[in-house]
Amino acid sequence: MVVFSYYIINSISGYLYRDERVNVSTTANMISSFAGEYFGEDNQTVDQSIDGLLETLKVDEQARILLINKDSAVLFDSQHNPDIIGKAQVKQSVITALGGKEGYEEYKNSEDGTLVLDASVPINHGGAIIGAVNVTYTSNKINTFVNEITRDIALLFVVIFFLVGLIIFLVVSLITRRIVDFTKKITDMSDGVLDEKLEVKGHDEIAQLGEAFNNMSEKLALLEEKRLQFVSDASHELKTPLSSIKLIADSIMQTPDIDMDYLHEFLNDMVGEVNRLNRIVNKLLYITKMDSVSNADVRNFELLNLKTMVGDIVKNLRPLAEYSNIEMVLDAPEDVFTMADKDRLWQGIYNICDNAIKYTREYGKVEITLSAAGTEAVVSVRDNGVGLTAEDREKIFDRFYRVDKARARATGGTGLGLSIALSAVQMHGGRIEVDSELNMGSEFRIILPLMDNA
Ligand code: ADP
Repeated sequence: MVVFSYYIINSISGYLYRDERVNVSTTANMISSFAGEYFGEDNQTVDQSIDGLLETLKVDEQARILLINKDSAVLFDSQHNPDIIGKAQVKQSVITALGGKEGYEEYKNSEDGTLVLDASVPINHGGAIIGAVNVTYTSNKINTFVNEITRDIALLFVVIFFLVGLIIFLVVSLITRRIVDFTKKITDMSDGVLDEKLEVKGHDEIAQLGEAFNNMSEKLALLEEKRLQFVSDASHELKTPLSSIKLIADSIMQTPDIDMDYLHEFLNDMVGEVNRLNRIVNKLLYITKMDSVSNADVRNFELLNLKTMVGDIVKNLRPLAEYSNIEMVLDAPEDVFTMADKDRLWQGIYNICDNAIKYTREYGKVEITLSAAGTEAVVSVRDNGVGLTAEDREKIFDRFYRVDKARARATGGTGLGLSIALSAVQMHGGRIEVDSELNMGSEFRIILPLMDNA
C-alpha cells in the first residue's frame, strides 16, 4: 500500500506540476507581448497602469510579475515591493531572457521549502530587446494537495492497520481456542478416557483435524472394547479345562481306595484337558505375536510359489483325511507366485484346509484348487461337510466363535483358527470369501494379490 500510494501521489503531483509549468510560461509570454508599450523611452520606467493590464489578462494573484529593463534592473513588481525597484535581478532565467531566449528554472523557496516555478521571456519593442518579463509562481496549491492526500492516506493506513490487527487477533484467538480445546480432550484421552469427542464446526483444516481425531478415538474405543472382550473370552476359555481338571483331581482325592483302571481313565481325561489348555495357550500366543506386528510389515516377505505351498499343506493333512476316510483332491496345475511371509501364510491356508477336514463327515470329500484370475491368486477349499447357516457365516471369523461347542471339543477346536487365518491373509493384502449351505458343505476362497501386485 505504501509503494502504491507513493506511486499515485507522485504521478498526480507530476501531472499538476506539468500543468503549472505551462501556465507560468504562457503567462510570461502573454505579458511580454503587451509589456513593451508600457516601457518609458529611457528604458528606466514602466507605466504603473500595467496593473490594469494584468487584471484584464486575469493573471493569477499568486504569480509574481517583474518587469526588468535591459540592464537587469527591476522597473515593476506586481506585489509592489518598493525595496526591489531599481535593483538588479541576476537570476539565470532573466539573464537568458535578456539574451533573447525564454528562460526557465525551478528551485526550492529558501523560507518554506516550497517549489518555485520561474519563467522569463524577452520583451521586444521596435525590433530590439528592451527588457524581460519574469514570472515566479509558488505552487502552494499543489503542495497543500500533496500534503493533504499524504495525511489522509496515512490516516487510512492507521485505521486499516488496526482493523486488520483486530481481525487477525480475533481469528487467531478463535483458532487457538479450538486448538486448546482439542489439546485438553487429547490429554483426557491419554489419561484413559477413550470415547472423547471433539466438537467439529465448519470445514476448515482444524475441523478436518477434529474429524480425524474423532475417527481415531472411535476406532480406539472399538479396539479397547474388542480387547476387553478378547481378555474375557480368553479367560472363559481357559477356565473350562481348568474346572474339568480340578473336578477330576477332586474326584481322585475323595476316593481313597481308587481302582487303578478308574484312576487311569481319570488321568487320561486330565491329560486331554491339559492338551486342550496347551493348544489354546499356544494359539493365544500366536495371535498376540501377530497382532504386535503391523500389517504393513513386509520385511519378511519373499517370493513364494503357492503351488508348492498348497501341495505341502495337502501332503501334511492327508493322513488326517485318511483317518476319517475323507477323499482329498488337489488341483494345482500351474505355478502361481505371490510375495508372502511364508510361515504366516502357511498357517492361514493350513487352518482353512484343516477345518474342511474337521467339519466333513466320514467318507466326505475335500477339494483344494489353486488358480490365478486377473491380478489375483485364488486358493479354493471346498468340502461337502456340515456347512454353515447364513448367521454363523458372519461370525466364524470372530475369536473363540464356534458353531457347535460340543463338536468343537471333540475335534479339538478352539475357535481361533479362522481368526488367525483371516489376519494372516489380510496382512498379505488379501481376503477370504465364504459360500456355504447347512448340511451341504462349504467353500472358502483365499484371495491373494499375484506377485506383480503384491
Ligand atoms: P475351531 O478351532 O473351532 O475350528 P475356527 O476359528 O477354525 O475354530 O472355526 C470357527 C468355527 O467355524 C468352527 O467352530 C466351525 O463351527 C466353523 N467352521 C469352520 N470351518 C468350517 C467348515 N469348513 N465347514 C463348516 N463349519 C466350519
